[in-house]
Amino acid sequence: MPNTSAIPIESLVVCDQCDLLQREAQLESGGTAICGRCGNVLFRSQPRGLKLSLAFALTSAALFLISNFFPIVTISSQGLTNSTTLLDAADRLVHDGIPSIAALVFTTTFLMPALEIMALIYLLLPLHFGRLPPGLKIAFRLIYIVKPWAMVEVFMMGLLVTITKLNAFASVAPDTALGSFVLLMIFVTAAASNFDPHNFWKRVGALERLEGKV
Ligand SMILES: [Zn+2]
Repeated sequence: MPNTSAIPIESLVVCDQCDLLQREAQLESGGTAICGRCGNVLFRSQPRGLKLSLAFALTSAALFLISNFFPIVTISSQGLTNSTTLLDAADRLVHDGIPSIAALVFTTTFLMPALEIMALIYLLLPLHFGRLPPGLKIAFRLIYIVKPWAMVEVFMMGLLVTITKLNAFASVAPDTALGSFVLLMIFVTAAASNFDPHNFWKRVGALERLEGKV
């Protein structure tokens, strides 16, 4: 273990698996820093990671709006046609007497993905313009709190099974929101994977020093 007493605190990095405090290595672009004791990945050098994350998050926000305000499927049976959005489906579940399922669908497919996308944009957009948003720590924590509860992919799997089964009884045609939900899954994953906490806090630290807060 290096003597860390004379090293500036911003140059130290702690392993989140074994707690070893280490001096931050200077990486080439695309390189990966590995813990000297347990081999855990400490951080990756992604110079454009935060910008990419912001671009993917903004695209996700547009896809989220399309996914939730356009119909997912159009069902035709005996001359009757009905188009359903995600929120219509949750509302129908409430009227059918199963509000707990409606709440689960609303929370995991609408509320949590919305919070994750909004928190990413809330943090990264001001940072892109050299500003620090108020409540930065709360928004950062929020991303990691809501992430396990955002389950668009589970909803999509269930939806595809339902469409296949329903086709035995009625004509079920995929609509605009089905395609945008698939794209939403891809773009949210890309936004999250490019959001590197190490790079994020380094950028925040640099701005704080500029603003004279530390
Ligand atoms: Zn370690």
